[in-house]
Amino acid sequence: MSITELYDIFLRHPIILTDTRKIRPGGIFFALKGASFNGNTFAAAALDAGAAYAVVDEQEYAKDERCILVADALATLQQLARHHRRQFNIPVIAITGSNGKTTTKELVTAVLRQQYTTYATTGNLNNHIGVPLTLLQIQKDAQVAVVEMGANHQKEIESYCLVAEPTHGIITNCGKAHIEGFGGEEGVRKGKGELYDYLRTHNGTVFRNTDMEYLQQMAAGVVQQVTYGAGNATYTGSPVMKDVFLSVVFSHTGTDVRIDTHLVGAYNFPNVLTAIAVGLHFGIAPTAIKAAIEAYMPDNSRSQWIQKGTNKVILDAYNANPSSMQAAITNFAASPLNNRILWIGAMKEMGPAEADEHRALVTLINSYEWKDVILVGKEFSGLQNGLRWFADSTEAAAYVRAHQPQDSAILIKGSRGSRMEVMADALV
Ligand code: ATP
Ligand code: MG
Repeated sequence: MSITELYDIFLRHPIILTDTRKIRPGGIFFALKGASFNGNTFAAAALDAGAAYAVVDEQEYAKDERCILVADALATLQQLARHHRRQFNIPVIAITGSNGKTTTKELVTAVLRQQYTTYATTGNLNNHIGVPLTLLQIQKDAQVAVVEMGANHQKEIESYCLVAEPTHGIITNCGKAHIEGFGGEEGVRKGKGELYDYLRTHNGTVFRNTDMEYLQQMAAGVVQQVTYGAGNATYTGSPVMKDVFLSVVFSHTGTDVRIDTHLVGAYNFPNVLTAIAVGLHFGIAPTAIKAAIEAYMPDNSRSQWIQKGTNKVILDAYNANPSSMQAAITNFAASPLNNRILWIGAMKEMGPAEADEHRALVTLINSYEWKDVILVGKEFSGLQNGLRWFADSTEAAAYVRAHQPQDSAILIKGSRGSRMEVMADALV
């Protein structure tokens, strides 16, 4: 079946299903493969549960006329998404980077929605399946789309660009995240830079943060660049810390506008400034930009601010890598909070750099004064250098249950795999 024929079916059944546990009647089920499952084996169940069609890529599962046999179900999903995207002559803004993609995406989307009907990635659906699903959600009334793209190896962003065909792009930063798959920090720049490469060859526009100097070199040759940063850029702003919450002041046509965010940590400043720059570029009024950003509340353990008994907790158990750890810890150390405590979980996906990065993290921690520190995870084993250490967060939580801190400020941060949220739950 050709993509245009499949697209006609999609227009009549505009619901894409990939998970048999979440079948909605009338949708099209795509039999995708994962490391430990073959979606083809679920096709019959999907149809029984009410799916209108099942796109399968193994002959033996093409049981009846509701089954559409293709060479590769994932590639078909991606082609369908590109075909759908091509029906829209609208700005499509792609966002990638090592840290802050989702936060930036949420802020940019909130700002754009002040004036435009905006479709955006839901949650963190930023991979080879999430990117096409995001595009296929775009409806007739769309005026802008915002697509988060995550990657942990070379050529991944390029492949997403070939599906999403972005007109605009943002690289939040290139840091030490997924260094295992990318092959070092240079590899990260090359991999994320595939977004700029696409825009360079397709006459696209880059929103570029001038405070990340390496982005300038990476964007060389891109004709249309909109710059923003603390200084020397088209759109400028500066961070003001109020307690732990970030405020940002920017000036536009001679007037200063102050935004008081619900975001914790100065490392959110570039994320906020990006949203301001995108908003101003697309002609959104400064007051509307302010309203959108002030209304945004972070969720999913991304730098959440919680009061637990007499303790103030910054819960950042969503993810961690050397650059976001450093940003969070130095920011916390510089905050005016009293009785600062660190509960730090191990960083995953470090590859051969694992021991060095955890050793460097312990050195960073030991360069500040803390009321108490707990390190969690076998990655710290033997590197704890006098600090309290537990092999996993369940053990650490048991310790916390028996030794409750009082009147303290606690930063909880670690990779998702370190499950540091159970430590917050252990606080009374
Ligand atoms: P993922 O790779 O899981 O999609 P992401 O890039 O979407 O992550 P966010 O979910 O926005 O990132 O933020 C995750 C965490 O990264 C935050 O809780 C914070 O600790 C850190 N972080 C956010 N923005 C920045 C930034 N600009 N610089 C450094 N660290 C950041
Ligand atoms: Mg994300």
